[in-house]
Amino acid sequence: MKLSTCRSCGNQIIWTTLESGKKCPMDAEAQTLATFQPGSTPTYRLDDLGGGNVDALRFDNNELTDSTEFHVSHFATCPNASQHSKK
Ligand SMILES: [Zn+2]
Repeated sequence: MKLSTCRSCGNQIIWTTLESGKKCPMDAEAQTLATFQPGSTPTYRLDDLGGGNVDALRFDNNELTDSTEFHVSHFATCPNASQHSKK
């Protein structure tokens, strides 16, 4: 998978395609429930299709187990996310 760097915080991200067809940057680092409590934050499994194409498949947060590795949108974790989008 091709890594990119967030322009605002410098963390590594992976550009993925959501099931909706939208592009979304995911944190490159996988999380588990020990490191990240998703709550209502969407969690994803990444499916590397090759050629720089990565699909992000949504997990049901209720089905995550202690050993499930998942990725979350970088918008959910970026310390500078408020600069990306203001409501
Ligand atoms: Zn960032």
